[in-house]
Amino acid sequence: MKIKYHWKCNGTGEEVKKIVNTLNEAQVPSQDVVEVVVSLPYVFLPLVKSTLRSDFHVAAQNCWVKKGGAFTGEVSAEMLVNLDIPWVILGHSERRALLNESNEFVGDKVAYALAQGLKVIACVGETLEQREAGSTMDVVAAQTKAIADRVSNWSNVVIAYEPVWAIGTGKVASPAQAQEVHDELRKWLEKNVSDDVAATTRIIYGGSVNGGNCKELGGQADVDGFLVGGASLKPEFIDIIKAAEVKKSA
Ligand code: PEP
Repeated sequence: MKIKYHWKCNGTGEEVKKIVNTLNEAQVPSQDVVEVVVSLPYVFLPLVKSTLRSDFHVAAQNCWVKKGGAFTGEVSAEMLVNLDIPWVILGHSERRALLNESNEFVGDKVAYALAQGLKVIACVGETLEQREAGSTMDVVAAQTKAIADRVSNWSNVVIAYEPVWAIGTGKVASPAQAQEVHDELRKWLEKNVSDDVAATTRIIYGGSVNGGNCKELGGQADVDGFLVGGASLKPEFIDIIKAAEVKKSA
């Protein structure tokens, strides 16, 4: 199982140190049961990278779509590789909505980051309006297709299914709703990419995951982990990491 802690645009130096201390002291299942990745604003990456326990990894929350150069304010994939940051989140719904990142732009970013050697957590998910209109799977398939059109090796890709209406709202998808989309996504990969990619690509769920709902969600057959926002800044994140045990005993 994969658990991804996403601090979004939060934290002061002192708060970051405190969270790292808590993570460093936590008793959690071993790496063969759970892979833990902590995703931070760029400015904290070097600090956390150098102080976080070695069995947890770090991720950036975005990177530029191509080689660095005259792109003021951007951070390139090459820079992340140079700092030894192994993971990057791309296509988070906040960036898609607030910064107008299109499916194609996200697909280009995923392809470029992978080509530089980064591992990518690629986010997909529908808005409430799209769900109510019955187009959840069309939306998620179009977002995934823009990636599939540009990527041939999926071994370093994790898909995060994050229904936009569940992010930061406290309104978590029911285990059945999450499972339904994960299952459909896997079938989409089977049909449009390959059986092998469908079987091996981890599809994690994000959207108001907390210490109380993580076990049931994690127990769903096609839920391979979580992307956690709000709860990653609270002590309950340790319980979420421990929820990976559900899969081990399944
Ligand atoms: C997120 O930011 O991707 C997220 C899932 O946030 P939250 O867990 O707070 O809903």
